[in-house]
Amino acid sequence: MLRLRLLVLLVLFSAALAHAQARSATLANVRGDMAFLASDALRGRGSATHDELVAATYVVSQFQSFGLDSVELQRIPLKSGATFNAVGLLRGSDPVLSRQAILLSAHLDHLGTRSTPAGEVIFHGADDDASGTTAVIELARALAALPSHPRRTVIFACFGSEETGGQGDGYFLQHPPLPLSSIVANLEFEMIGLPDRAVQPTQLWLTGWERSDLGPTLAAHGAPLVADPHPNEHFFQRSDNFALARMGIVAQTVSSYGLGAHYHQPTDNLDRIDFQHLSQAIEWMIAPVQWLSSSDWKPSWKPGGKP
Ligand SMILES: [Zn+2]
Repeated sequence: MLRLRLLVLLVLFSAALAHAQARSATLANVRGDMAFLASDALRGRGSATHDELVAATYVVSQFQSFGLDSVELQRIPLKSGATFNAVGLLRGSDPVLSRQAILLSAHLDHLGTRSTPAGEVIFHGADDDASGTTAVIELARALAALPSHPRRTVIFACFGSEETGGQGDGYFLQHPPLPLSSIVANLEFEMIGLPDRAVQPTQLWLTGWERSDLGPTLAAHGAPLVADPHPNEHFFQRSDNFALARMGIVAQTVSSYGLGAHYHQPTDNLDRIDFQHLSQAIEWMIAPVQWLSSSDWKPSWKPGGKP
């Protein structure tokens, strides 16, 4: 009997240890991604700049290291220069469901640098949106490491030039890796580097909550998602998800916006990031995203919800 108890304790202890190890691995990976993306070296990842290209190249190289099935650095010519998307794809394991895709996205770019009388100031955009880019990278790492691929295809996309009107996203819509009609849901990740005081510290929210059945269904599968507590900010309309939603795709943004007065300021930097929260926010989403990627359930707009 004593031996059995010892055995049970040992099993529980090793499960807890494995869990703690996975958590600290995520935290270390998140710190690593953020330390580069929001570094002085990337100079605020200005839209359509060489710095944005370096950020996109980092994402592409991470995707390649996870062994995704296809990885592409998209160069999109613009009048003033070029912008860059990093797109990776994990092909679904089910012959039928693999023709459907889940799109996980964020934006690479931020505001770059500004000259002031005191010298050059860097807008690091640690929360906006290095945090979301890190979420897409780490979700790709987690899904690619599963013993078998999700049944649906998963597309990981980090877009350039969101801050100047969504030119990277616009190009993606015109050149999708699978037909747009096969994308059954898009989750954009924006500003999850700080908890939002308007909700519980262990909660994230989904923009456009009431517009579709995506949020409630993910919540039923373990995502700590609630309705966006800031409807007057119109966050649903303010990220890359919106252009996709207008094409009919159920496309909504996961956030825990806590920047307040630091939004679009040089003080949105690494010092401000709550790394425990950011790392946990990503971990909380892994199992629900894994479920969605292997499910045959399709989210749909509620009457009047589609923009
Ligand atoms: Zn943003």
